[in-house]
Amino acid sequence: MEGMNFIWLAVSGAAGLAAGLGLCAIWVAARKRSSQTREKEAPEREPGGGEGHRPPSEASMMAQILSLAKSATAARGAVLLRKAQEGWAVVATDAATRARRGREFALKEGLLGLALESNKELAADPVQPGAIPFLEGASEPLAVLFVPVGLRGEARGMLVLFRHTGSPFEAKEQAAASKAAFYLAGLESLFVHAERLDGAQARQERVAAGLERMLRQADPVEIAGSALDALFDLLPARAGFAVIHATRAQYHALVTKGFAAPQGFDRLERATWAYWVLTKGGEPLYLDGAAGRETAMPLLCSGEEFPQDKRVALVMPLKGTAEAIGVIGAVGTSDCPFGEQDRAVAAFFASQTGALMELALLNRMNAEMALKDSLTGLFNRRHFDEQIRMELRRAQREGTFVSLVIADIDHFKQVNDLYGHPAGDSILREVASRLRSAVRDVDAVCRYGGEEFAVILPACPIEEAVRVAERVRQRVGSSPHAIDPSTKLEVTVSLGVSAFPKPVDNGLQLVRAADAALYTAKNSGRNRVCAG
Ligand code: GH3
Ligand code: MG
Ligand code: MG
Repeated sequence: MEGMNFIWLAVSGAAGLAAGLGLCAIWVAARKRSSQTREKEAPEREPGGGEGHRPPSEASMMAQILSLAKSATAARGAVLLRKAQEGWAVVATDAATRARRGREFALKEGLLGLALESNKELAADPVQPGAIPFLEGASEPLAVLFVPVGLRGEARGMLVLFRHTGSPFEAKEQAAASKAAFYLAGLESLFVHAERLDGAQARQERVAAGLERMLRQADPVEIAGSALDALFDLLPARAGFAVIHATRAQYHALVTKGFAAPQGFDRLERATWAYWVLTKGGEPLYLDGAAGRETAMPLLCSGEEFPQDKRVALVMPLKGTAEAIGVIGAVGTSDCPFGEQDRAVAAFFASQTGALMELALLNRMNAEMALKDSLTGLFNRRHFDEQIRMELRRAQREGTFVSLVIADIDHFKQVNDLYGHPAGDSILREVASRLRSAVRDVDAVCRYGGEEFAVILPACPIEEAVRVAERVRQRVGSSPHAIDPSTKLEVTVSLGVSAFPKPVDNGLQLVRAADAALYTAKNSGRNRVCAG
């Protein structure tokens, strides 16, 4: 992401191949390899950064997208099958999956046949091992998801995801898998349909190289950055931008290239071409200033410095399953406009970027969910255990403090007993939010147990931690908590505070000391702070 600027907008809480395919089937070198050779290639592992001049390998790219699909769907493994002469053959697997290569399987019938016939994802659980003979060591029934990988309605491949039986693939996992299948279909067009191309080999290789670079990124902003770099390889662009606008994932970011990200940009304004493409477009938009094909609407934001005349711009949606999840744009000058073929290649690239971006966002959300408590949105106990260890090591290394506050709701059982569990849950959410609002952003707020919360305060001595605990106590008790429009309850918490290095010298003692102090606070009347 050299020469790239990015800003975060807001990140909180918690993917008909475009014009593309006619486009270009590119990769002339690849077509010279027989399909047989390709099928025998083992999926390579990530080579570790060296870009060299090694041509991108279709097999390694497929393996990477299979790994992504696997994690986005919480699957145990992923396999890509392709139609061969007599049946189906394994083309690629994720790194951990063993599949029988170099053989063809007659799979016209059964579930695979059904998925093919309907040309839709098909989830089944349990699937008997006989129906998935291409999987090595499949001796038990499995939950399986079949997703046709096809171009223009014709399935030439099948993505197969599987995990243990009893856990069937859900709709949102099917959506993620179909994005991976879309991406794989794009790759297929890139590598296999080379004969239809116009032979501009250097550019075609650049497309593959750009896709490969993007696949190495896990972070959505990094993917956007790599996509912009690739766009500059494909178009005579002077400037470029990528906006990630993923409402469902609550993820927004702007990445720019060739110009500084506008100060204070925090969301796409409505009266911009980027917003228009995001919300109405569906299709790439080409603006040619010299041909007078635009109004005075800005591209990205008001006050931007792109000239109005002699400007050309290509703005393309990054499509997710349910909504556009972003926009990517390239800006040039009409002295050097973007040709039709270049625009088609760029549109293909944007469609691949959209699919990859959605998978990355899903993975990010999954990873985040694994750290968070679903009721309160606070960090969970597992994260607490990791975080406290990490902060203690840091405090030891740097000779600083780390404090711990444990808060426990007073007489909480009574709330459940008198008003029911849902009311209790709403109190837990409200306490969690007041707690979060009373501490610094760097402090990790966790749900430690049922109605117990823990706050890890890095670089904070005990006197300061006691003040923070007192602020928490006051904020929780300051006003009654509404459990429904007509019922408000007074809620209080008791808190125990401890700190490293003094008065405790090791990590184990830190939690014990805060617990002991909490016990003291309970025994001396509740709704108070005690330090251990
Ligand atoms: P004390 O002041 O001594 O802390 O009294 P208490 O009633 O808060 O303490 P006790 O440990 O006896 O009760 C804790 C209660 O928290 C019991 C349990 O039903 C409730 N609880 C734990 N987790 C949840 C939850 O996720 N939702 C709801 N609604 N209640 C929960
Ligand atoms: Mg308790
Ligand atoms: Mg309690």
